Amino acid sequence: MEKYSRVRDQVSVLPNLQLIEAPPASDNQILYAHDHSYLQRVVAGKLSEQEQKEIGFPWSEKMVERSRRSAGATIAACKTAITEGLSGNLAGGTHHAYRNLGTGFCVFNDSAIAARTLQKEVHPNLKVAIIDLDVHQGNGTASILQDDSSIFTLSIHGENNFPFKKESSDLDYGLLDGCNDQTYLQTLHQSLDALDARFQADFVIYLAGADPHEEDRLGRLKISKEGMRKRDEAVFQYALDKQIPLAFAMAGGYGKTIESTVEIHCQTIVTALHFQQQY
Ligand SMILES: [Zn+2]
Repeated sequence: MEKYSRVRDQVSVLPNLQLIEAPPASDNQILYAHDHSYLQRVVAGKLSEQEQKEIGFPWSEKMVERSRRSAGATIAACKTAITEGLSGNLAGGTHHAYRNLGTGFCVFNDSAIAARTLQKEVHPNLKVAIIDLDVHQGNGTASILQDDSSIFTLSIHGENNFPFKKESSDLDYGLLDGCNDQTYLQTLHQSLDALDARFQADFVIYLAGADPHEEDRLGRLKISKEGMRKRDEAVFQYALDKQIPLAFAMAGGYGKTIESTVEIHCQTIVTALHFQQQY
């Protein structure tokens, strides 16, 4: 949890960056991606012991508030990106949350909620691509959006990593343990080409997980800091070339030292600022 405040402190001094307090997502917005009964159980503190175990932390009012604001921040980033080109959430990327179930530290699925909120509140025909480069598969996102042809889900992840039961995204690339920069970036470029051939996105939501980095405890891949920067650049360039807005979320990062994770997340934000000025 500490990485979030450290990232915030570090980026708060960057020129041309404006920090805004995350607004909470409303019930209505959460219900675009979640079951009514699940939302009620979360809000009322009626999650079973088993459900709390699946999420990975115990229920509290603060946990509900944090989850609401984490999703609300991705919605706010999306709406800001529409006017400014690029914007981000300093948390979020809770892609393991299913329609009626929280798992893997994820309560509400911010990218599914935000993509649907854009369609409900900005434009009904908006087509959204979710590019999920956290090292863990975006299983909840894939499941929630499996029958939704207006939102494209792309996930590049460690094949042998959590979640061990994968869902079907519109496009999945499972990488082997120890994957290096070259293979990783090649896979990314291929997948962006494939996305382009299959889907005309009007908007991109990018999950910029820091956990593919070589110093991550859980990632199992060997992507250098430079490789991580090139990864971010490839995604930002993709959106910039098409002149479509992009909102990003931080997603996972569990470095051997907290500094290494904070460094990778901050690098994403510095890179994003550079691209934002080109919109
Ligand atoms: Zn992850």
